[in-house]
Amino acid sequence: MADVKTSPSDGRQDRIRDRIDVAPRFTDADVIRLNNLFRGQDAAEVVASVIGAGLLGDTAIVSSFGAESAVLLHLVVQVAPDMPVLFLDTGKHFPETLAYRDALAAQLGLNIVNLTPDAEDLAAKDSTELRWSYDPDGCCEIRKVKPLEKAMAGFDASLTGRKGFQSSTRQGLPRFELDGSSGRLKFNPLANWTRADLDAYFTAHDLPRHPLESQGYPSIGCSPCTSKVLPGEDPRSGRWRGWDKTECGIHEAVSPIGDDPANDPAF
Ligand code: SF4
Repeated sequence: MADVKTSPSDGRQDRIRDRIDVAPRFTDADVIRLNNLFRGQDAAEVVASVIGAGLLGDTAIVSSFGAESAVLLHLVVQVAPDMPVLFLDTGKHFPETLAYRDALAAQLGLNIVNLTPDAEDLAAKDSTELRWSYDPDGCCEIRKVKPLEKAMAGFDASLTGRKGFQSSTRQGLPRFELDGSSGRLKFNPLANWTRADLDAYFTAHDLPRHPLESQGYPSIGCSPCTSKVLPGEDPRSGRWRGWDKTECGIHEAVSPIGDDPANDPAF
């Protein structure tokens, strides 16, 4: 249950009634309350308090098994070892990412749920497997946004590993935020972590690194849309390089081109 109130006197009964009336699970007021309540506490404390007490209701981790994913996964499984870990199995990942996913799952005992694109959607909109090359927003919609939307229908909240330092567009990322207009909550425990914090955590807990990180990939997504990053660039600047696109659509809305087949290129 998505009750974030701290005592019956501050509205718990109202919140219970909201759920019965199918009102949004969380509201702006809940987000403000959570951000204020846990301000100044470190990530492990907040995860233990929030997840341990079940404040967010049914919750899943969304993980790309990218360069820094091991930190959030390790933090959370200390408190909730069975929490589902949703992985968007787009069909376009580097083989190294899939191997890393499997290795981390075995090491941490993760409850992985692989989310694959709808076969009919793929056949109708990406039969060439090349949609990424002319409509990356549309490709992300089929391979990431829709499968996650479908899976998240059964949850009240998600945990993400996003950090503010990753790009100019993620600066000021809050710990708690609403997930679009769904009424679900997003919990970003590492929002204010620095690169040094992450490195220290990897060392302290002897966590394995993604094999591509040392090859110049500080941010790792699907292989066609991930390139190496030069010194001084944003860590995420290698994602969709050359496109006016910084997010896949699961965190920020994107704009696929229309469904009219006339929009499709001829190969
Ligand atoms: S990141 Fe690239 S390949 Fe992956 S779903 Fe998005 S556009 Fe497609």
